[in-house]
Amino acid sequence: MWALYKKVPLWQKIFLGLVLGLITGLIFKDFAIYLKPLGTLFLNLIKMLIVPLIFVTLVSGITSMDDLSKMKRVGLKTFFIYLATTAVAITIGLAFGYIFQPGVGIELTNEETVIAKTAPSLIDTLLNIITTNPISSLAQGNILQIIFFAIILGLSINLAKDKSKPLKDFFSSFSEVMFKMTDIVISFAPIGIFGLMAWVSASYGIDVLYSLLKVILCVYIASLLHMIFTYGLSIKFISKLSMIKFFKGIIPAQMIAFTTTSSSGTLPVTTSNVVNNLGASKSISSFVLPLGATINMDGTAIYQGVCAMFVAQAFGVDLTFSNMLTIVLTSTLASIGTAGVPGAGLIMLTLVLTSVNLPLEGVAIIAGIDRILDMARTTVNVTGDAMVSVFVAKSENELDEKVYNS
Ligand code: ASP
Repeated sequence: MWALYKKVPLWQKIFLGLVLGLITGLIFKDFAIYLKPLGTLFLNLIKMLIVPLIFVTLVSGITSMDDLSKMKRVGLKTFFIYLATTAVAITIGLAFGYIFQPGVGIELTNEETVIAKTAPSLIDTLLNIITTNPISSLAQGNILQIIFFAIILGLSINLAKDKSKPLKDFFSSFSEVMFKMTDIVISFAPIGIFGLMAWVSASYGIDVLYSLLKVILCVYIASLLHMIFTYGLSIKFISKLSMIKFFKGIIPAQMIAFTTTSSSGTLPVTTSNVVNNLGASKSISSFVLPLGATINMDGTAIYQGVCAMFVAQAFGVDLTFSNMLTIVLTSTLASIGTAGVPGAGLIMLTLVLTSVNLPLEGVAIIAGIDRILDMARTTVNVTGDAMVSVFVAKSENELDEKVYNS
């Protein structure tokens, strides 16, 4: 039995865990909630990996890329594609909300007050990336600050040339060890995902979903289209790679994103998939992916587009074209500052709604089903990060097509 289990590919085991969890939750209801610790156990293991994995792989990625002009090029390319795909995503979200009108006919009875999040100024956001204490950034898991420090450290190692050889080797060996540790943790994914799925389906049930079915459908279908068209077609026509192989390679990360609703949490698995299944070089992936897990949130952008339209319709507010442009802009910027953790998009939604004076009571209604929407948006967020890694790796000739096509 065990030998047979070991032979089944990981993504199939994860999928089995997901489906069994769903069924168990629906059948056993309250009892299934007790299975959540299985999920928490897996989540804790993954969280344990995040900080050391990002830090050492990024430093070692930079030291293996000791050509400064290449680093600049990769950085600019990554940032630009992240922004562009996010803007496309939010436009798709708004269009879906406009066409399918998920908020029409909704009766608003919930009068909870929601406090809006105020947008930090651009200057503050940028200044905050520069850590004043790298140890505390590592301890608190502040990913942007860790990325910043790792880049400076990597560059300094490169500048110190021969004198830094031991440190360079240390980071390169440490990053290999972290990848091995990631493999061990990922092997627990099927069980963790079973527990998380049982908990989600037991706590939501079918009735809650029904009343907001249109919003859910809009977010899910728009997400699917964005993944197939924006990502799939870019992979096929710009990178000239197989779309099917891309999606097949990234399935484990997608399923983990779907159940954990955290792109930062999924990062170790995304990195392992992008390197081992899709053949992108470690140096490109260790730069593009942690950055993406923090600043690239296409799924969140789609969700904000749909939800802004939903709230406007439910409260009978007509959004002008310039309102929509404001939404595109605020969501794109908001997604940069959002951490890849569960529920972050909901908090950012208050910011987007405030930017066009929409009532915040709408957030309270969305909050009831936010986990379900978060599952879709995190899956898109993670797929987007993987797509950009493959895209950049291919354009830099750092994609092993033998691995990609195997
Ligand atoms: N949960 C999402 C993520 O980690 C962020 C969000 O809530 O939109 O990618």
